[in-house]
Amino acid sequence: MLFRSPDAQPRFLNAAAVGDTDASAEDVLAVLMAIERERGRTRSFQNAARTLDLDVILYGERVMTTPVLTVPHPRFRDRLFVLEPLAEIAADLVDPVTGSTVEALRRALRASSPAR
Ligand code: AMP
Repeated sequence: MLFRSPDAQPRFLNAAAVGDTDASAEDVLAVLMAIERERGRTRSFQNAARTLDLDVILYGERVMTTPVLTVPHPRFRDRLFVLEPLAEIAADLVDPVTGSTVEALRRALRASSPAR
């Protein structure tokens, strides 16, 4: 799924994955960050176009804030480029903060977003 970024960054590919794990959320994040490093992620300044960005969006229905991790991801409800691919594979997942499903969040954000 390709979206034009609102701040005129290059086009980028978005994807979502869902899985089961015995690993802690912090350990999942550590793996994602290692993959980013391995794949040569570079970012010249904050919010600059990124080569790869992997985030933990939800971790079951846990709500947590640690020095390295906030779950659910604090901005995922405002990002169609997260909600669209996530709803394709896990529409019924529940955001424990709002109590809304991913599909409900997607619909609400689409309804309030300007046409693309
Ligand atoms: P970014 O690369 O902009 O996604 O930010 C990565 C930084 O955000 C990392 O240093 C993480 O410690 C922190 N972070 C906090 N919450 C999350 C999350 N849910 N998913 C990924 N990174 C997170």
